[in-house]
Amino acid sequence: MNATTLRQQLAERGLAPNKRFGQNFLIDEDILDAIVDAAELTERDTVLEIGPGTGALTHRLAARAGRLVAVEIDKGLSGFLAEQFADNPRVEILNADILKTDQCSLFAEELSAGRGAVKVVANLPYYITTPILLSLLPKDDLFSRFVVMMQREVADRMQADPGSKDYGALSLAVQYYALPEIVTLVPPGAFYPPPEVTSAVLRLDRHNVPPVSVKDPDRMFALISAAFGKRRKTLSNAIAGAPQLQISAEQVRSALDQMNLDPNTRGETLSLSDYAALSDLL
Ligand code: SAM
Repeated sequence: MNATTLRQQLAERGLAPNKRFGQNFLIDEDILDAIVDAAELTERDTVLEIGPGTGALTHRLAARAGRLVAVEIDKGLSGFLAEQFADNPRVEILNADILKTDQCSLFAEELSAGRGAVKVVANLPYYITTPILLSLLPKDDLFSRFVVMMQREVADRMQADPGSKDYGALSLAVQYYALPEIVTLVPPGAFYPPPEVTSAVLRLDRHNVPPVSVKDPDRMFALISAAFGKRRKTLSNAIAGAPQLQISAEQVRSALDQMNLDPNTRGETLSLSDYAALSDLL
C-alpha cells in the first residue's frame, strides 16, 4: 500500500498518524515479507504483535500463525482492526499498553502446555523499544524468538561486541538472554510518515540457558550498570563510585588481578563472561 492510499483509509475513519504513540506505518511490501519470513512461523506458533497499527503486518501474521494476539494502545486503531478480524477466532486484538499487560495470563494456555513457543513480531514504537524488550526478554518460559523493527542505532547497540563504540549495558543485557542478528536495514521511505532515522529489523533468538553462569544475575547487572554509568573512569573507580554496591576500588582491582585482567581496565573492554566472573568474585 502506498502513503496516499493509507492516508485516505485513515482519514475515512477520522484517524491520522499520532506522533505521541510512535506511529510510523510500514508500507514497503518487501520489508513486511522479510519480517514475517524471519519469524519462520508455522501453525503451531503463537504470535504476540506489539502495536499492530493499521494491520499491515497483522494480516500476514494471521495467515501463518496458529494464534495471534495483537496489543495496540490506540483505541481508534484497535477498533478498526478488531472489525477486520471479527470473524477470525485465531486472532485477538487488545486495546492496551504493552508495558501494563500481564503476558503470563495472556498466554496461560501456552505456558501450561509447556511449549514456550510464543514469538514476538513487531514494528515497535521507537520511544519505548528498550523498556519493551527488557521487560519481555527475561520471561524464559514464554518467548522463543523476537523479530522486531527498531532504530538502527539501538539495534547496533544490542548486537555490539566488547571494545566497539556501540558496546554498553544494553548489549550485555540483551546478549545475556538472546542472540541478536540484524536481518535487514530499512530506509525512512519504507514508512508513512517517514521517521527521521534509519531503522533495522533485529532477530533475537532466546537462549535456552544463559551463555554464562553467574550466581546472582541481578548483582551482575548492577555491576554492569555502574561500570557503564561513568564511561570515562576506570572500571574499579566506576564500581567504587556506586554507593549502592558497597565495593572498594581495591577489591575490584584485586578481582581483576585474579582474572589476569589489567587492574586499570575500563568497563567497555570486558565481555559478558568477564562480568559474570567478576560478579562471582566480588
Ligand atoms: N505495526 C504497524 C506497522 O508496522 O505499520 C504500526 C507500527 S508503529 C511504528 C507502532 C505502533 O505501536 C503504533 O500503532 C502505536 O499506536 C503502537 N503503540 C505505541 N505505544 C504502545 C504501547 N505502549 N502499547 C501497545 N502499542 C503501542
